[in-house]
Amino acid sequence: MTAVLGAGMSGLSAAYYLLQRFGYPATVYEASHRVGGWIRTERHKDKGFIFEMGPRTIRPKGIQGANTLQLIEELKLPVDPIKSWQPAAKNRLIYAKGQLCMLPNSLSGIFKTLPPFSKPLISQIKQDLVAGQKKLKLADESIYDFVERRFGAELANYAISPLICGICAGDAKEISVRFLMNDLFEKEQKWGGIIKGVVYEKLFGNKNKTAPAGLFGDSMPKLYEKSLKEKWSMYRVPDGLDTLPQTLRNYLQEKEVDIQLTSECREIIFTRNGVRMNIKGQEVEPKHIISSIPTHKLATCVKNQHPSLSALLMAIQYVDVAVVNLQYNIKDLLKMKAFGFLVPPIERIPILGVIFDSCCFDMEGNTILTVMMGGRWFEENFGKDPTPKKLLDTALQYLDLVMGIAEEPRLTRVHVLRKCIPQYTVGHTQRVSDIRRYIKHYKLPLTLCGAAYDGVGINDVILSARNQVESLRSLDD
Ligand SMILES: Cc1cc2nc3c(=O)[nH]c(=O)nc-3n(C[C@H](O)[C@H](O)[C@H](O)COP(=O)(O)OP(=O)(O)OC[C@H]3O[C@@H](n4cnc5c(N)ncnc54)[C@H](O)[C@@H]3O)c2cc1C
Repeated sequence: MTAVLGAGMSGLSAAYYLLQRFGYPATVYEASHRVGGWIRTERHKDKGFIFEMGPRTIRPKGIQGANTLQLIEELKLPVDPIKSWQPAAKNRLIYAKGQLCMLPNSLSGIFKTLPPFSKPLISQIKQDLVAGQKKLKLADESIYDFVERRFGAELANYAISPLICGICAGDAKEISVRFLMNDLFEKEQKWGGIIKGVVYEKLFGNKNKTAPAGLFGDSMPKLYEKSLKEKWSMYRVPDGLDTLPQTLRNYLQEKEVDIQLTSECREIIFTRNGVRMNIKGQEVEPKHIISSIPTHKLATCVKNQHPSLSALLMAIQYVDVAVVNLQYNIKDLLKMKAFGFLVPPIERIPILGVIFDSCCFDMEGNTILTVMMGGRWFEENFGKDPTPKKLLDTALQYLDLVMGIAEEPRLTRVHVLRKCIPQYTVGHTQRVSDIRRYIKHYKLPLTLCGAAYDGVGINDVILSARNQVESLRSLDD
């Protein structure tokens, strides 16, 4: 028997790919009373809107995007795309220097001086040509340092730092350049400059380099082809994103995959013939474990027998995020149409950003907004255990300040998501490879997937599960 730990998107996907690859129904153990992990939707069908407490949209691009669309296609789930020409895809705002600023979204935009920048973006990009052209030997550095070194502090502060807040609620001064710009970093390291690297690789690079589309055989998933043709920028699942894990759960259960809820794994002991696990006080003895649970949880399970592995797992840090969902009974409360806005940390205000949900998707006669707060600065801004009222008041105060919205919302929800996003800080790639090397060295029947290892987005955790399952030669590995 193979046991999958965690029924978030990665654990469910691991069970799905186990079935596909080995025709084998695994048992999934989930600590909570529901599947989906951080994916959580609250529906208000009678009023025509939903609140998403965690993720809400998925990007269709690249191999990761294609892989998720293949899964969605196989599950026959409907999706609702935002096309690249729509305001929610095109318009990206940041709040800087006391105003909402639209980031350039066309070629002509990069030749203009637009606030908050003091010069056109093109001149900042060109700075790469005059910055140091020596080949470097850095293993890693922060994404802030890299961008500041190549393009200057303005781009690092007002473009990259808010983007990092939007993706992982983290501090660009701590997050590894390999998290988001691995390719550009490699180009710089190899050629001495990014633009130089792009040109040289066009001229002298490997022309036969093919995309790792082997995953999909001869043809890409149909839904992916459609997303390219129709220029999707992102998409949602119309009835709420938690329909995705719920549909996957139903599919797996029909194929006799056993999904046990309220079944927390508390201890893992590796034995000669496999594994002995403590699930809610009961002993279970699978041959192999695929763990998709957060690293700090897995660290506790293996601590007694493998303290060094536990310490390696504990070195991956997570942040807390406060999510405030707001519903207004007014259709067009927003003056600007966009996906939302992000706040650069240099502005030192206690919100990470706001998503304009009702601008992205139809919410009938409602304006729906989600305010994200905390992340890397949670404790600094709110202390250890803020009350929901304090979080709501802060969200409303800054909505008024930034967007002039002083109306009382009709319905509000406040959730603090503890340790919800792993931080890929400088050295993360090395940490993950040390963890996997340890497991290989001691021949532990343990495979790792999920948000802590191979990317923090939904696409990443699904592909992480697929790659890890496909790397198993047999279930006795
Ligand atoms: C606020 C927020 C917004 C986000 N927005 C987006 C977005 O718009 N788009 C996007 O692509 N991504 C987004 N993400 C990221 C996305 O949510 C994650 O990539 C994804 O949900 C992680 O899935 P997972 O299965 O790896 O982990 P989890 O969702 O953490 O699942 C792990 C599961 O393991 C269970 N578990 C824990 N300990 C044990 C144990 N000891 N035994 C058994 N079970 C256990 C947990 O209960 C949980 O169900 C967002 C994340 C957050 C927090």
